[in-house]
Amino acid sequence: MEAVTFPDYPGHEYQIVRHPGSAVILPLLNEDEVVVIHNWRAALEREIVELPAGTLEPGEDPVECAKRELTEETGYSAGRMEPLAEMWPSPGICDEKMRLFVARDLTEGRTNFDEGERIRVAVMRFDDVLVAIANGQIQDAKTMVAMLMYDAQRRERS
Ligand SMILES: [Mg+2]
Repeated sequence: MEAVTFPDYPGHEYQIVRHPGSAVILPLLNEDEVVVIHNWRAALEREIVELPAGTLEPGEDPVECAKRELTEETGYSAGRMEPLAEMWPSPGICDEKMRLFVARDLTEGRTNFDEGERIRVAVMRFDDVLVAIANGQIQDAKTMVAMLMYDAQRRERS
């Protein structure tokens, strides 16, 4: 957290969280199945359904971060990592940019969780994830955006 003032608006001090950026991965086993995680979130004191994601290490390329986080959190390695979208998840307090990717050609392997991560891996039907978003069961913003963006682009192409 950093206190910042701007010369053209000196009367106000902004509280800003500086963030290195992050990568979000939509892992497709095939066109109908998505790998998701049940992730225990300390801030919420509960487990929520999300797509795998993580913070860029210093100097790390976002694609490399996406590949690394996918394997750490789900065990899967991606043969292809395709850019899907970019977003500012919290521009009111934080300069974090999230880069969203679609991962394909997945090979199963071993997870390697970070300290403090409590994650269970699951496979869901793509359409069931959309239903869970539509009815409010899934409320994780990056997961909603990635799924809806992919679905929109898929419709656009067909
Ligand atoms: Mg992680």
